[in-house]
Amino acid sequence: MQILHTISETRAFVRQARARGQVIGLVPTMGYLHEGHLELMRRAKDQCDIVIASIFVNPTQFGPNEDFGRYPRELERDAEMAGSVGVTAIFNPPVEEMYPPGYCTYVDVERITEKLCGVSRPGHFRGVATVVTKLFNIVQPDYAFFGQKDAQQALVIKRMTRDLNLDLEVVIVPTVREHDGLAMSSRNLYLEPDQRRAALVLSRGLERAKQALKEGERNAAEIRQLVINMIQDEPLAAIDYVELYAYPDLEPLERIDGLTLLALAVTIGRTRLIDNAILEV
Ligand code: AMP
Repeated sequence: MQILHTISETRAFVRQARARGQVIGLVPTMGYLHEGHLELMRRAKDQCDIVIASIFVNPTQFGPNEDFGRYPRELERDAEMAGSVGVTAIFNPPVEEMYPPGYCTYVDVERITEKLCGVSRPGHFRGVATVVTKLFNIVQPDYAFFGQKDAQQALVIKRMTRDLNLDLEVVIVPTVREHDGLAMSSRNLYLEPDQRRAALVLSRGLERAKQALKEGERNAAEIRQLVINMIQDEPLAAIDYVELYAYPDLEPLERIDGLTLLALAVTIGRTRLIDNAILEV
């Protein structure tokens, strides 16, 4: 497996693969890989001849008081894990390679970014859409793989790809969870043991909503309140949002009668965690 640090060597690598007629898959990540990332890479490997995983902690998607500085970075460990699932190359550029002095161009996806994480993290999706556009232009993949764990991000990437006529297919992979239900995340590393236990309120909240739906509840406000009550029972948890929206358009809804996104953001200590479920009647 190769580790590529510059845009020009990555382009050369891709050009050679393309000349051999190979199908190219891209898996963008911020590293500190876990089983969720590896699942994306396996899916990419199944579908593509070569898989490039990017590992880049993207400064433009972090707010000024967020965890950009302390986000875990362990390239050697990541390279070993990515190699074990058949990734062909890692693209790991330094920040100046992606954002040289004088950089001033951004991609803004409107409307679907104006709710959920877009409210709590102003500028976040602008940073995500920008870096993903750049990665798409550098690698020019046939397929790019994203996780359902970041449901709104997946919708933003899909919408951007459609709106800007980007010539690739975006594949969304289901959320990978720990045995007890906690959605895998690089940020789980931040959790102390008691916080790790408290973090189960997210997946349990989603399960509570599914159960209510199964029992016949269709009122979105009622379901939302059940989930809020459950999370509020956990003293270490502070709710950022609990919201239900029609999926995939993210329009507000009162009754659940089609695909519905239930999305949660909860802070445990200093760690902000997100999770979601697509509810289906
Ligand atoms: P990140 O490194 O957190 O930016 O994530 C990189 C990619 O992996 C994104 O497309 C995420 O949605 C995806 N991902 C992160 N955690 C999970 C998970 N638990 N299950 C599936 N995909 C995930």
